[in-house]
Amino acid sequence: MKEKNNKNEKNNNEWKQIIRHVYNDMGEEIQFLFPNDSTEAFLTSIWKASIDTLDSREVMVIVDNRHNLYISSGTESLVSFKNHEYELKNGEKMQLPLKCCIHTHPSGKAYFSDTDWNTIKTWKSDIESCIVLGNNEYLAYNPQSKIAKRVQYGLLEKESRGEL
Ligand SMILES: [Zn+2]
Repeated sequence: MKEKNNKNEKNNNEWKQIIRHVYNDMGEEIQFLFPNDSTEAFLTSIWKASIDTLDSREVMVIVDNRHNLYISSGTESLVSFKNHEYELKNGEKMQLPLKCCIHTHPSGKAYFSDTDWNTIKTWKSDIESCIVLGNNEYLAYNPQSKIAKRVQYGLLEKESRGEL
């Protein structure tokens, strides 16, 4: 049992390292309000971890005010670090307001669930940007200005034109 836990922990660290690596590569170019090309590459690395590496488990990534990352997975709630408590204990203490809070919806639809929305309402003065990732789509939202950016990628066929 103990060994199995250690294995999972190792697996955890590998996918987290990939996300951190992509983030560090982007450096200053990243914009969370609102996502540019670099940010989209970072978002894609989070989506891939959630779907491919973790077999469709939800992933959450928080970017705090010092640009440090706090990564968690397998949670339904927007700000839970259950089983990932070490993320909050190692390194620097999380600094508010958060630059961005990103999470995935492995079901594929990028929207804010009731739980998400309640969390956003509670945290709105402490989060500058909330992003939810779906399959070839994302929604980025600034709780202060209420401005959102929604992006959807797909094949545009003659018959469907604008409807993906
Ligand atoms: Zn959600």
